[in-house]
Amino acid sequence: MMIKRVRGTKDVFGGDILKWQEIEDNIRNVCQVFGYDEIRTPTFEYTELFNRSVGEKTDIVQKEMYTFLDKGGRSISLKPEGTAGAARAYLENKLYAQGLPLKLYYITPAFRYEKPASGRLREFHQFGVELYGIKGIDSEVEVISLCHDFFTRIGSLNVDLEINNIGSFETRQVYISHLKEYISHNLDMFCDDCKHRYNINPLRIFDCKIETCQSLMKKAPVVLNYLDDKSRSDFDSLKATLTAMNIEYKVNDRLVRGLDYYTDVVFEFVLNDYALGSQSTVCGGGRYNCLIGELGGDNISCVGFSVGIERLISALDIYNKSFKKAKSPLIYIGHMGGESAVYAHKLAYNLRTCNVYSYVELLGRSIKAQARAADKIDASYLTIIGDNELRKDRLIIKNMESGKELDINLDEVFDFLNTLRRD
Ligand code: ATP
Ligand code: MG
Repeated sequence: MMIKRVRGTKDVFGGDILKWQEIEDNIRNVCQVFGYDEIRTPTFEYTELFNRSVGEKTDIVQKEMYTFLDKGGRSISLKPEGTAGAARAYLENKLYAQGLPLKLYYITPAFRYEKPASGRLREFHQFGVELYGIKGIDSEVEVISLCHDFFTRIGSLNVDLEINNIGSFETRQVYISHLKEYISHNLDMFCDDCKHRYNINPLRIFDCKIETCQSLMKKAPVVLNYLDDKSRSDFDSLKATLTAMNIEYKVNDRLVRGLDYYTDVVFEFVLNDYALGSQSTVCGGGRYNCLIGELGGDNISCVGFSVGIERLISALDIYNKSFKKAKSPLIYIGHMGGESAVYAHKLAYNLRTCNVYSYVELLGRSIKAQARAADKIDASYLTIIGDNELRKDRLIIKNMESGKELDINLDEVFDFLNTLRRD
């Protein structure tokens, strides 16, 4: 029996590769103009890292992580998200020593044992940004505007920016006790997962994808009413600045994030017609002031987000985004074998080293078949080198669009094509 790929994983090829490349180009461009440097961290880490950062009480750590013992008996996990590894690298490599703020971005695979659906995989990819070392809302403004610009550059989607403030760690404790009080009256009616969350991470119940749980939470107390003066005034300045920057947002007082390390401002970019159902959140982020401290460093402010790339692509497919097409060759270099094949390879190699996209006949087909092949791959020019051409030191180069043929001296072929080069 043929071996199949693992459920929840994907092969990417053909037209889909072009989508990935275009998205990655946009990521690199937008991060460059905002001044963020790329960081690449390992695919696996000690499990302890995720227990301490993402949080032992989260769904991710409790049931979604790929954890195993390596041959040395150490507990290792495949990264379920990008923030923890970046934070570990920040501390381990003393990246703060270069001076703060530190602005990083990453494109990383992430692994979660979840029920696969469109835009929900077991291996997926995240584009994320981390801004370390800024206490005030300037950092939220910067990362939210970066993400906003990213979605604008990608185009085709209708995404809403939703923001909320879940308060400091301290104020949240009061809120959580009131929230639990509210939920306790109907606890029986919640799903098993939420019953579990009630005890360990009640905020997460807002995030449950099950309809009944969502409706039971409709009248739940909202965290915004519990903010202290500082959080409240910060949140007001954030809103005012976004408005001044013409970045539209909605306050969603039910928005929480699933990971433990969030405090204060949280935000998401959500597909506004919910084309992907419960997979409609394409980006989630916020502030995580406790994260670095949790990992043993000085308590430093940190704001970031991550975008699910597969989920973004699924959404773009639904919205019929047209992606850039693959480039076609400038010239198809055909030949008749023997000496002419040697010449064809030599010419193609010279052109390619000068960045001219050249295609050489590799199958030794008939002239007619080579001309058809050139047409099929949309080459702009075609030449077929034969012994006759070599003897006369001249090549016939056909413009595939106009059908016009140029008779060029062999010595000039290279220069002729090199000047036509399309970058
Ligand atoms: P969800 O509520 O959809 O499960 P999440 O809160 O678990 O999302 P985060 O941990 O914030 O997601 O991850 C950031 C982004 O990564 C999400 O907004 C989403 O776009 C993407 N993402 C999360 N889990 C998956 C997955 N299993 N497959 C594909 N993309 C995912
Ligand atoms: Mg999830």
